[in-house]
Amino acid sequence: MIRTTCPYCGVGCGLKITPDGKGGADVVGDPDHPANRGRICSKGAALGETLSLEDRLLHPEVDGRRVSWDTALDTVADGFREIVTRHGPDAVAFYVSGQLLTEDYYAANKLIKGFIGTANIDTNSRLCMASSVAGHKRAFGSDTVPGLYEDFEQADLVVLVGSNLAWCHPVLFQRLEAAKRARPAMRIVVVDPRRTETCDIADLHLGLRPGSDVALFNALLAELQRRGATAKRFVDKHTVGMDDALIAARASDVAQCDLPKADLETFFDWFARTEKTVTLYSQGVNQSSAGVDKVNALINCHLLTGRIGRPGTGPFSITGQPNAMGGREVGALSNTLAAHMDFALDDVGRVGRFWNTNRVPRKAGLKAVELFEAVRAGRVKAVWIMATNPVASLPNADAVRAALAACELSVVSEAVRASDTVDACRVRLPALAWAEKNGTVTNSERGISRQRPFLPPPGEARQDWWIIAEVARRLGHGEEFAWRGVADIFREHASLSAFENEGQRDFNIGAYADIDDGAYDSLKPFVWPAAKGSPATKTRFFADGGFFHSDGRARFIATAAREPLHAPSNEWPIRLNTGRVRDQWHTMTRTAKSPRLAGHRPEPTIELNAIDAAQRGLQDGDIAEVTSAWGRAALRVHLSTALRQGEAFAPMHWTAQLSRAGRINAAVNPAVDPISGQPELKHTPVEVRRVAVQWHGTILARRPIMLPEVTYWARIRGAGCHAYLLAGEQPLASARRALSAAMRTANPGPWADGEDALGAVISDGRLEAVMRIGKAHDETARDRLAPFMAMAQLDSEQRQVLLHGGDAADRGGEICACLGVSCASVQTAIANGAMTLDAVGAVTKAGTSCGSCRPEIRALLRAARPRQAA
Ligand code: SF4
Repeated sequence: MIRTTCPYCGVGCGLKITPDGKGGADVVGDPDHPANRGRICSKGAALGETLSLEDRLLHPEVDGRRVSWDTALDTVADGFREIVTRHGPDAVAFYVSGQLLTEDYYAANKLIKGFIGTANIDTNSRLCMASSVAGHKRAFGSDTVPGLYEDFEQADLVVLVGSNLAWCHPVLFQRLEAAKRARPAMRIVVVDPRRTETCDIADLHLGLRPGSDVALFNALLAELQRRGATAKRFVDKHTVGMDDALIAARASDVAQCDLPKADLETFFDWFARTEKTVTLYSQGVNQSSAGVDKVNALINCHLLTGRIGRPGTGPFSITGQPNAMGGREVGALSNTLAAHMDFALDDVGRVGRFWNTNRVPRKAGLKAVELFEAVRAGRVKAVWIMATNPVASLPNADAVRAALAACELSVVSEAVRASDTVDACRVRLPALAWAEKNGTVTNSERGISRQRPFLPPPGEARQDWWIIAEVARRLGHGEEFAWRGVADIFREHASLSAFENEGQRDFNIGAYADIDDGAYDSLKPFVWPAAKGSPATKTRFFADGGFFHSDGRARFIATAAREPLHAPSNEWPIRLNTGRVRDQWHTMTRTAKSPRLAGHRPEPTIELNAIDAAQRGLQDGDIAEVTSAWGRAALRVHLSTALRQGEAFAPMHWTAQLSRAGRINAAVNPAVDPISGQPELKHTPVEVRRVAVQWHGTILARRPIMLPEVTYWARIRGAGCHAYLLAGEQPLASARRALSAAMRTANPGPWADGEDALGAVISDGRLEAVMRIGKAHDETARDRLAPFMAMAQLDSEQRQVLLHGGDAADRGGEICACLGVSCASVQTAIANGAMTLDAVGAVTKAGTSCGSCRPEIRALLRAARPRQAA
């Protein structure tokens, strides 16, 4: 059994892994890990299904040809050297990732900032929490998360702002849910334009107008002061700027939020009266052109009340990625240096002395969006992308693809063979994946945990730090990158955190600077700070001041409410919000391999309010074209009661690999916050139109199909098969011919026509492929047909059932990914009298494993209660 850390979200759950000896593994939550205490969510529980070597990049390639490591590394090093010689160091850049381990991150940052001599390194964490970093630094003088996870459980009021915790950080949601069960008097407020699954445990949902968060928290600040909630002693002794912040707050108009007066009063009242208050926030705050002001507006309320750094209090930013915090520690943002230092002259000198180099740049580099604009404009001529997929994940994504196509030298280090970004790069370097990598990660509460390998390196894949060090050696810096392994890098990183640090910098793990390899291997999770001589104790910051501005005081920031940069118009009347769904992760390079995760949301969707849909002649299940001033996507329509009129939501996960027309980021605007550079992924004005499709289809096939040109397709994994969900504007008869031909080319065998527009290839009694195509969208076809793909042989009765349309049970989509329980099974149990979560669990088992589906089961229960009462 090996203890490691989950590679998905910023909760950073500890896992216990038991390899099966055949390339797979059993994955359970680690009961001894402080982040999750044995809990796990659907994504973590399905990790064992994502380990296959199928789709892995296993050998280096240059210009589409397999080459040796030496050739690939020489190509990268020679290319970077030549461009730096010709155009200077600012003509090259790295774009890295919160998926990298801290040791890999450290190596990348050291090479480009310390030895190539440019700060042009940015990380995809720019998309996730750059506004929090900037807001922390403005308020505290440092990028410090003051609190701990246990504060959520100890608080009497938890305010969740722009956070669908239930789906995006499920184990923290489970902890909060359990705390509320144990102490029902605890209050939870959700501030979010959408009525998300997180509202399931909320006492109050403030469904404010998108982008009006600053107006809300300015109004709260003014109310707190008016109601006498100011912590005068704390404010006088430890802060500056309150008066200006209050003047700005009073100038705000809370009417912008478009919230019922009574709800506002309740919120203000609860916040004013509740000493133990935590404000937890995430991408809904950060991903905005006013993200930094939003962060500071809510921090202001905690400074005014002195609710920070004590148990059950504080503002708390939850990061999206598993190692976004590690990236912040090593300084992998282009506007930070290393070990929580930045480009102040003292810091530049200190890092230069430590790294023994005089090449450390004196100014910040390009941030993600501007970095790829510089690539497109030819100012950056070489870019090395590591462990991320910007062609799918950055806004205005087609422009990123065009930038890479025009780039003189595009390099990608990746574990997967095909992604939108891998396909766009000249040099492809095979990197290790989660199960093979060795190092550390830091979660949202400053907790550092080991990630340990449990599978051998496949093919010629290598860990990122090794690849970086080999390029450094070829560039003439072998001595500075002569690490024997990850423990060497960790020790160096820990030493830098303590170097000339007499308490001026928050990040200090000097206690670990001298640990030996054995101690590193067996390192237990710990929360920093951990200065030399004072080993880590789980601690909070700022209860007694001690902020990191030069005068030791925090800053109130005067914030003025402002609208998102691009407002809806007659041409683009709907505000598009993008985000995540429960069972997928980022651009799905890993989660798409798991059949059980595919059941919950199998397709890219556009969620719409029923009135907006009706005005456009759209019904649930239609295909819609979403257009903006930047691009377009084609998505399945999903009517939602969670959205206000004029608002839409689309998940950001789907890539061209999985749905060519489903890349929503092609349509997302590239506006950024002027301070943090974080893109405004939650506000794009769009229009949505019905696509006049003639047919809808479902194909399940054992071997992947080369699809003919169709208007819309999405590809997912089923158990033992590939599933395709399709729709087209072409005439039905010709589409059926083309699709059946493609299906039979990849899955040869005798054809059998069935009823209900169904056809199948059945060879020697085994179903090889099956297709259902007709005029109407049949949402249940995949679930009806899938059981036959799992059968080794069909007997004559099973063949008959298949050809009559498949398993007649209406499964209605999966709700519980862990145990494969369908929505219809839960509804049947409810109809038969199971009227509580526990009763549904007892009958169906749904919700009894990781618990990620419990909000959706409760929603079905709530929907059923009025019917039962009627
Ligand atoms: Fe992984 Fe889920 Fe834990 Fe996040 S909450 S770290 S995705 S197991």
